[in-house]
Amino acid sequence: MNIKNFINDKYVEPISGDWLDNYCPANGEIYGKLPNSSKDDVEEAYKAAKEAFPLWSQTTLDERSRILIRISELLEASLDRFAEAESKDNGKPISLAKSVDIPRAASNFRFFGNAITQFASESHESVGQQAVNYTLRQPLGVVGCISPWNLPLYLFTWKIAPALAAGNCVVAKPSEITPMTAYMLGEICNEAGLPKGVLNIVHGLGKTTGQAIVEHPDIKAISFTGGTTTGAHIAKKAAPMFKKLSLELGGKNPNIIFKDCDYDEMLHTTLRSSFSNQGQICLCGSRIFVEESLYKKFKKDFVEKVKQLKVGHPSEKATDIGALVSKQHLEKVLSYIEIAKKEDNTILCGGNQIIIEGYENGYYMQPTVIEVINDECSINQEEIFGPVVTIMPFKTEEEVLQMANKVKYGLSATLWTNDLRRTMRMTQALQAGIVWVNTWMLRDLRTPFGGVKASGIGREGGFEALRFFTEPKNICIKY
Ligand code: NAD
Repeated sequence: MNIKNFINDKYVEPISGDWLDNYCPANGEIYGKLPNSSKDDVEEAYKAAKEAFPLWSQTTLDERSRILIRISELLEASLDRFAEAESKDNGKPISLAKSVDIPRAASNFRFFGNAITQFASESHESVGQQAVNYTLRQPLGVVGCISPWNLPLYLFTWKIAPALAAGNCVVAKPSEITPMTAYMLGEICNEAGLPKGVLNIVHGLGKTTGQAIVEHPDIKAISFTGGTTTGAHIAKKAAPMFKKLSLELGGKNPNIIFKDCDYDEMLHTTLRSSFSNQGQICLCGSRIFVEESLYKKFKKDFVEKVKQLKVGHPSEKATDIGALVSKQHLEKVLSYIEIAKKEDNTILCGGNQIIIEGYENGYYMQPTVIEVINDECSINQEEIFGPVVTIMPFKTEEEVLQMANKVKYGLSATLWTNDLRRTMRMTQALQAGIVWVNTWMLRDLRTPFGGVKASGIGREGGFEALRFFTEPKNICIKY
C-alpha cells in the first residue's frame, strides 16, 4: 500500500514522483511505498500551514482543546488498528504497541488539550513606577516537527500536540523507516475537525525532506528527536537562521544497583529497562553497574532471566522481543558484538542473530548481556540502541558516580537503593535530565523531559513544551 503526504487535509503524492520502499522488519518484505518528498512538497506543506495560521492561532482555547481531545478519543477508539500498524511497521511486539505506544499517543493529545487551558502568562506590577508589565505568549507561526522510528506515533504526537495546542501550524515528518501510523493520523485529524492546513505531514528521507524543513527560511522552530549526530547537523543548519530548537537526542544511560535495594523489584524492572522495545528506547539503562557484594548473585539471576525472554514474531502474544527495526540497524547492533569481543569483554548470553522459521528474512537478535572489565570500552561509551546491555561491578558510591557520568551523553539514569541520604547525594550528582529511583520509565506528562550534554538541548513535557512553542512578548504600560 502506498503512503501519501497529508497536505491541506488531502492525501497527495510527491510532486517529484520519487518513492521509497517500506519494509516489514518481521519478515524483511517490502509491503508498500512512501514519498521521498522534495523541497517542493515541503513548500506546499508550508504554504498550507501559513494560510491556516491566522485562523488557528485565533481559535479559542476551548475550541482547540476540544479538537485535540477529540483526536485523542478517536485514536483510543482505533487502538487495535493503530497498534497493528505500528507493530508491523516497527517490529515491536503488538502487546507493547497496544499497551504503550498508541495509548500514549492518545494521552499526548488529551494532555496538551487540557494543558493549554491552564497555561498562564505572567504580569508584574512595577510598584512606584506607575506601570504594569504583562507577558503575552504568542504562537510562533509555522513550526517543524521531526521524529525517529523507535516510538513512532508516541514521539510524533509528543511534538505535534503541544505545537497545535499553543496555536501553531505544523509541518511534520515521521521517520522514513516507520511512516505508517503518522500517515493514518491525517484521517483522524480530519474526522476530529482539525481545520485544513493546521497539520501537514510530509514523508521522506532525513537528508531530503527533513533537511528541507530545517532549511526552510520561514519555519520558525524545529522540534527534533533523533540521533546526536543528526541533532548536531540540524543545529548547524538552523543557527544562521536563528531558529528555535528543541533537540532530544541519544543516551547511554546508567542503571546503578546497590545491595540495599528491593531485589525482586529491581530484577524485574531491570529486565524491562534493558530490553523493552528490543532495547530501542533512548531511556533504556544499557550500562548496568552493580555493587560488588551483590554482583555474583545478580549476574546469575539476570542472565537466567534474559535467557528466558522469548524472541518472536511481533504479532504473537507470547513475544517479549520482536524484530529490530531494519536490516541496517541489526547489522549495526551486531557489529558492536564484534567490537565487544575484540575489546576482551565476555558475552554472558546472546550475541547472535536469530532466524525464525517462517520469517527467515526478519531482523531478529538474541537479547545480549556483556560483562565488561573497563567502563571506558566502546560498548560502554557508544549508543548501541539494541537489545544489548553491559554489566560490571563497583566498590564505592564515588567510583560508580564517576563511571556513570563519564560518557558524552546525559539523558537518564536509574538508581536502586533504599538509603535516603545516598539517594539525595546521587540524584543531585548524576549528570542526566531524568533520574529514576527504584523505578524506570514512570512518566508523568507534566514533568520536564530532556537531556544534558550530547543528549540534547531544551525540555519537552508539560508547560515546558508550551513555552517552547510560544514566544514571550513583554508589554509595559505606564499609567
Ligand atoms: P535519526 O537522527 O537518524 O533520525 C531521526 C529523524 O531525523 C528521522 O525522521 C530522520 O529522517 C530525520 N533526519 C535525519 N537526517 C536529517 C537531517 N539531515 N535533517 C533533518 N532531519 C533529518 O535517528 P533515528 O535513527 O531515527 O532514531 C534513533 C535515535 O533517536 C537514537 O539515537 C535515540 O537515542 C534517539 N532518540 C532520542 C529520544 C529522546 O527523547 N532523547 C527519544 C527517542 C529516540
